[in-house]
Amino acid sequence: MSDYDYDLFVIGAGSGGVRAARMAATYGAKVAIAEEYRVGGTCVIRGCVPKKLMVYASKFAHDFEDAAGFGWKVGESVFDWATLIYRKDAEIDRLNGLYIKNLERHNVEIIPSRAEIEAPHRIWLSGEERHVTAKYILIATGGRPNLPVDLPGAEHLITSNEVFHLEKQPDRVVIVGGGYIALEFACIFNGLGTETTVLYRGEEILRGFDDDIRSTLHEEMEKRGIRILTKDNLASLEKNEDGLTVKTIEGRTIRADQVLAAIGRSPYTRGLGLNKVGVELGQRGEIKVDDYNKTNIDHIFAVGDVTDRVNLTPVAIREGAALAETLFNNNPSITEYDNIATAVFTQPEIGTIGMTEAEATSAFDNLDIYLAKFRPMKNTLAGNDEKTLMKIIVDADSGKVVGCHILGPDSGEMSQLLGIAMKMGATKADFDRTVAVHPTAAEELVTMKEPSRTIRKNA
Ligand code: FAD
Repeated sequence: MSDYDYDLFVIGAGSGGVRAARMAATYGAKVAIAEEYRVGGTCVIRGCVPKKLMVYASKFAHDFEDAAGFGWKVGESVFDWATLIYRKDAEIDRLNGLYIKNLERHNVEIIPSRAEIEAPHRIWLSGEERHVTAKYILIATGGRPNLPVDLPGAEHLITSNEVFHLEKQPDRVVIVGGGYIALEFACIFNGLGTETTVLYRGEEILRGFDDDIRSTLHEEMEKRGIRILTKDNLASLEKNEDGLTVKTIEGRTIRADQVLAAIGRSPYTRGLGLNKVGVELGQRGEIKVDDYNKTNIDHIFAVGDVTDRVNLTPVAIREGAALAETLFNNNPSITEYDNIATAVFTQPEIGTIGMTEAEATSAFDNLDIYLAKFRPMKNTLAGNDEKTLMKIIVDADSGKVVGCHILGPDSGEMSQLLGIAMKMGATKADFDRTVAVHPTAAEELVTMKEPSRTIRKNA
């Protein structure tokens, strides 16, 4: 009989923790998972899934407008926030139930409690006031939204945690931040009819993405009526009878009903007891792990956002799966971090994979850049001026495609398939010999013949 209550104890039932727990149990391990909020974690409960449902809701306004160009007479349309929130919550409840069932079906014990490590193999369950022991401990506690706590009026800010549960749709919203979560919510609110302002301290929105994508998204969001204020930031927030008064460091005054802070997320390790067992943290507060998700303590592991590697659901899931393979299936596994395709569900949407032009410029001597900016077919009859942008970055010496960035409808879907080609090491010649699918926007990816510009460092 084992010396411990469990072979594996998982703290946090989000994307990474659930996958690791379920797979470990499949391989015969005795597994428990503790969750202090709701099984499913950020992605299912207050991240990717509810967000995408709200993105769908917000697109209808544009579709109704476009429909007129195709001969439709759409009657007066009215949006009801309460219905959307109610139906979205029902779907989240359904998914939460499925996650619970799935864990139970695999004999994973779910413990609805906060868990803290108190000794190398011992965990304190504060919700149940008892201890348990485990041979291996997995920390999968994710991240938490950052808040500028010292800002005057910070208590009036909401984060992505609260935005999904607002009782009333704000007439005016200010969104602080220029990352993907900030911009996705800006487009959601704008589509639903809220007057939307983005306040971002940097030079240009969406830092870390390709510059052509960033500037074109900026233009397109403004065309849709979103006010984007860059190089400015919150100075204070004051509540009054008519909502909130936002003062900015550049001296602007903006009136709003809600102010959403989307200024990044930090690994969630507070109060976890890591200092009691000596788990090492990095500079950003992330748990440091090796390729096999092992911390500096031999039997303690961490996966997902709490390790702050690539903070995306599919990555956390991969890491969780790799851990279960390593510990319980005698199959040491690591996660590959190159060429991860991602989508940003702004309007227009972004699909992207590989290096930005700036990154490729520092990595290679010679580049060919293929760029196409065009009005997609649907927009012609719709009378809609929104542009699609496609950009392929090629290492001119090897011919290999090293980056591919798309801004336009369904580009997230396209990027998933580009991910396969790029993982296989596709060259521009491979793209060229692929016959186009017509009429689609994606065909542009295989029909761009001449580079729009070339970069030759030693020319
Ligand atoms: P999480 O899913 O955050 O799960 C951690 C869990 O641990 C939580 O349920 C938490 O309650 C629990 N917990 C924490 N501490 C304790 C404790 N001490 N005891 C017990 N339980 C604890 N990613 C994408 O790939 N695509 C997207 O479109 C996307 N959109 C997003 C939109 C938003 C608004 C946000 C916030 C995130 C989004 N993400 C998206 C990121 C994605 O949600 C995360 O990368 C993913 O959820 C990380 O999984 P995880 O397992 O590391 O942690």
